Amino acid sequence: MAERIPPGFIAQIPKTDLHLHLDGSLRLSSLIDMARATGVALPSQEEAGLRERVFKDRYRDLPEYLAGFRYTCAVLQNEENLERAACELAEDCLAENVRYIEVRFAPQLHVRKHLGYEQVLRAVARGLERAATAHNRGPGVTGGDDVPFAFGLIVCAMRRFSAEMGAYFAGLIDRFRFAPPEELYAAASLEMVRAAVAIRDETGLPIVGFDLAGEEAGYPAGAHRAAYAHAHRNFLLKTVHAGEAYGPESIFQAITVCHANRIGHGTFLFDHRLVRDTSIADPRRYVEQLAEYLANRRITVEVCLTSNLQTTPGIARVADHPVRQMIGHGLSVCLCTDNRLVSHTTATRELQRLAEHVPLTREQFRNLVVAGFKGAFFPGPYREKRGYVRRVLDRYEAIERDWAKEIEGWH
Ligand SMILES: [Zn+2]
Repeated sequence: MAERIPPGFIAQIPKTDLHLHLDGSLRLSSLIDMARATGVALPSQEEAGLRERVFKDRYRDLPEYLAGFRYTCAVLQNEENLERAACELAEDCLAENVRYIEVRFAPQLHVRKHLGYEQVLRAVARGLERAATAHNRGPGVTGGDDVPFAFGLIVCAMRRFSAEMGAYFAGLIDRFRFAPPEELYAAASLEMVRAAVAIRDETGLPIVGFDLAGEEAGYPAGAHRAAYAHAHRNFLLKTVHAGEAYGPESIFQAITVCHANRIGHGTFLFDHRLVRDTSIADPRRYVEQLAEYLANRRITVEVCLTSNLQTTPGIARVADHPVRQMIGHGLSVCLCTDNRLVSHTTATRELQRLAEHVPLTREQFRNLVVAGFKGAFFPGPYREKRGYVRRVLDRYEAIERDWAKEIEGWH
């Protein structure tokens, strides 16, 4: 094991970010710019002021963490800003050697009069494509050394929403004014995933996954089973924000009822005290079996360290985070940023943070990085994905050779 994995090595290796919210990852300077142009009022016009008041390093609770999204969503209400935000996000990822990303967002939050689902999705894809083309035509990739940049889009349904979250939601709430809330939320998810599948099939846009986001406690994913079933039937891959706010049963529901191919966060996977179903006689055994199942089926867990530390009161330090247990159980784990702006982090920083606090063998570390590529909902044939992962491994090993002297004692 290494005393310390060189930060320069972590910076250089090809990385992924599979759990990355578009509206949580704007450049702060661009948010200020876009707000000025669109007439959105911000609590400060300066980056320092916004860092102090809204986008902090530490948050009191989840509502404070989520407060900034009000501003980022407010400026992402036209194609130009959506495209720009997506392009800049890809550029920022590229600059730190992230080579594969899956950008997730709820298109419903951006839909309005004269801006439909398809336009929203196209605008984001266009922005990402622009950055990808610039990189992939450059000398690094054409010369054969560097790894090409690739991306997919993940559309998010919301566990719950309110009329203030946008014109689309307001209209929907009105349409369902006589129905119970669960019916409203379930109908919204289904409507969205139907639109996403249809657009994918008609346009060929790289819509690769479906996710359920938003406050978890009290809003079980099972309520959205019809939407997940539609995704499943149409071979759209699935991930679920699960085990972030409550326990292992939520993860079980995600993989059994929602057919999740990956799990977002999974923070409370090992917390047997959170098992509520009284028919589970031995909660400790239950979580062990659940973890074994995830490991065995290679269901990748998208771990977002900084974000969890910011929003989970019980996890004050990286050492308290179950990521160590996950790796110990042989789970397929990849590290993600969640929100580059709101969590004030990068993919490199997440890996560095882990390496600083959790002792990892050279193999464990490589597996963790490669798990992001292997667990990707890659928007192409499987043969192509295999070739891509091979290219990543070759690149990774070449960088290891360049750093041979510095990482000599790391086994
Ligand atoms: Zn998330």
